[in-house]
Amino acid sequence: MNIAVLSRNSNLYSTRRLVEAARQRGHECRVLDHLRCDIIIEQNNPAIHYKGDLVRGVDAIIPRIGASVTFYGSAVVRQFEMMNVFTTTKSQAIVRSRDKLRSMQILARSGVGLPKTAFTNYSREDKYLIEAVGGTPCVIKLLEGTQGLGVVLAETRKAAQSVIEAFHNLKARVIVQEFIKEAKAADIRAFVIGNEVVGAMRRQGKEGEFRSNLHRGGSATVYKLNRAEKAAALTAAKAMGLTIAGVDMLQSNRGPLILEVNSSPGLEGIEQATGIDIASKVIRYIEQELSAQQPKRKKP
Ligand code: ADP
Ligand code: GLU
Repeated sequence: MNIAVLSRNSNLYSTRRLVEAARQRGHECRVLDHLRCDIIIEQNNPAIHYKGDLVRGVDAIIPRIGASVTFYGSAVVRQFEMMNVFTTTKSQAIVRSRDKLRSMQILARSGVGLPKTAFTNYSREDKYLIEAVGGTPCVIKLLEGTQGLGVVLAETRKAAQSVIEAFHNLKARVIVQEFIKEAKAADIRAFVIGNEVVGAMRRQGKEGEFRSNLHRGGSATVYKLNRAEKAAALTAAKAMGLTIAGVDMLQSNRGPLILEVNSSPGLEGIEQATGIDIASKVIRYIEQELSAQQPKRKKP
């Protein structure tokens, strides 16, 4: 097969591992920087140019689209879809996963557990928002935050109101969320491929920190999901339309609560914590999907 990894940088751990795994399994594999792909639109003849050359013969793409380039990145993925190229992540699912509000609405409808959450359009009714999620302590998050930045634990109503007000004055939208104390500054990341959880880790925040992000000094260890956690991870990924996903959840007294479903989950943390070769599992997933589709596919 001929596989392309869409990535801004071929030196990133996940990108390197995917290329290595594809080549090890006997495939051709190259990295295309999605921001350097030109999309050519013409009646019945979708095409992509890369650094001036027509891209041909690609059987499958693995999109690794960063949150800051979702718009153009997802358009490139969509163009490959128009060219009948298999993608491990559909463009629509990438766009959907990047909208936190929409994601939470979809997840809530799918029936998985979620921390109680309030979204607002710069409402001045902070008091009611805080009450709506069960009072303080509560968690306040910047809608656009990543890696745990912009996630604040407010212990008192006064603190919560000040934080909401401060963010709103900066024209930043926030979400207010029930604080899950019993999660004990840890979360679970389940890595889903197809209809299977292929590995999971538990991330524990460093001393005195309620956020478990590795970027915030947290540490990761291999973890075996219980039945409810496995079911929640698979339901959440499916609801989001993702066949490859990193599902983050908190362990609560009422079972697993989904925090986020990542459409471009990193391989470094999970491969190191679990010792599992996740990259090869991604490539094998492509092999299976393509061989199942073979009769109806036409090579562009
Ligand atoms: P980001 O997407 O920036 O990583 P998250 O929503 O995942 O933000 O929050 C970062 C971390 O903070 C989580 O991994 C978790 O450890 C902790 N956390 C987030 N929300 C809650 C909550 N409602 N209750 C308890 N801990 C939380
Ligand atoms: N983008 C990273 C991932 O999906 C975030 C990990 C973290 O901040 O802990 O694995």
